[in-house]
Amino acid sequence: MKKDDTYNEALSMLDEYIAANRLRKTQERYIILRQICNFPAQFTANQLEVLCAKELTVARATIYNALQLFLDAGLLTAHQQYAGSKVTAYELVVAKNSKMMFQCTRCGRVVEFNDKAVDNALRMHRYSNFIPANYSTYIFGVCKTCRSPKKK
Ligand SMILES: [Zn+2]
Repeated sequence: MKKDDTYNEALSMLDEYIAANRLRKTQERYIILRQICNFPAQFTANQLEVLCAKELTVARATIYNALQLFLDAGLLTAHQQYAGSKVTAYELVVAKNSKMMFQCTRCGRVVEFNDKAVDNALRMHRYSNFIPANYSTYIFGVCKTCRSPKKK
């Protein structure tokens, strides 16, 4: 997924959460979220603070509050890392790749493919009791090779 797509998707989830919970829209949160989208994978609060410091003067508490808000909104997942001491690493949920695959029931071959329409439909769907992170979808059938008449 492109960086802008990731940000736009994260942004719409955040806006939705802020509206649903009647929270204030603060400029800092959006700047912090944009910076989070710059990390290719996991990041720590310290790394985020360093990155944000280039753009704004922000208290550490603001960073932690924003991280907690993003966790509550389902934008981030937290992992416990051990780098000498216990560190919490965060990861943007929307950046994780979802996969769609064809699997041939005759030869077993699996081919990954993209279907924007299905992808958008699955991403935009909201569930009342569940926050989806990503998905794997297998479509079973018969591949082109297995369907072609055998050469004699
Ligand atoms: Zn096949």
